[in-house]
Amino acid sequence: MSDSFQHALRTTLPMLKKIQQGIKPAPKGSTAALKMLRAAVGRRPAKPASPVLSASGAAPAKPGRAAPEPSAIPAAPRKPGAPAGPWEELRSAVLACQKCPHLVRSRKQVVFGVGNPAAELLFVGEAPGADEDELGEPFVGKAGQLLTKIIQAMGFERSEIFIANVLKCRPDMPAGESGNRKPKSAEMAVCLPWLGQQISLIQPRVIVALGATAVEGLVGETSPLRDLRGRWLEFQGAPVMVTYHPAYLLRNQSLSEKRKVWEDMLLVLERLGKKITPKQRAFFTNPG
Ligand code: URA
Repeated sequence: MSDSFQHALRTTLPMLKKIQQGIKPAPKGSTAALKMLRAAVGRRPAKPASPVLSASGAAPAKPGRAAPEPSAIPAAPRKPGAPAGPWEELRSAVLACQKCPHLVRSRKQVVFGVGNPAAELLFVGEAPGADEDELGEPFVGKAGQLLTKIIQAMGFERSEIFIANVLKCRPDMPAGESGNRKPKSAEMAVCLPWLGQQISLIQPRVIVALGATAVEGLVGETSPLRDLRGRWLEFQGAPVMVTYHPAYLLRNQSLSEKRKVWEDMLLVLERLGKKITPKQRAFFTNPG
């Protein structure tokens, strides 16, 4: 090993370790050391893994969960107009997806998801409906407005958390029919890797699966929702709370069903270590 290579290693390794731990190191002397190291070892070949997950600049690490491994060699300067970092690369790839020709033909737009890409909490629904297809944002119709109320009652703003669907395109409807249809298992299976990649980058501490179709698409569980709700499942190492879809609460306005969903959300808040007020604990316990 040459002296210059050893010197470059000594000065660079502590900095790389800090990057791996999610700590932004002081740039003191590092550029020169990296240049020397790069000159000594030559450029590393690009990883063969999915391009959206191999680039640097992922969402910040969360306590207790491993951060995506940063690339040891800083990325080459971005071309003007190119997506910034893996999150934007993923968004571009999802928006250009052509995997389901029948959905490509019928969709107005792909609904990527909305909110904070470093969110600790992720809500997952089944698929965009007509409103979402029109606006390009998940959960903007009547069910979405109810979901927003639930999120706010939990003490969050919609922008603080992330909301996505298993299927990113609105399921197509037979000619002349309006309304929305449930996504098919096969459609969700084709699309799930996109959500998987979103989750790898977001690293949510808790995922909430909304309704039976989302649960099936996410974890392949097909038991009745009344048996699954309030229980913790797992997806890519993240805990998944199962609860009713807000559209179900719109169809069934009874206090007892609202309370069930709220109890599931209290479990989520507890898992996140959030302070729950007595008022929050008592939501939907008595009419009026
Ligand atoms: N229902 C869903 O599951 N997702 C949406 O985005 C809207 C309604």
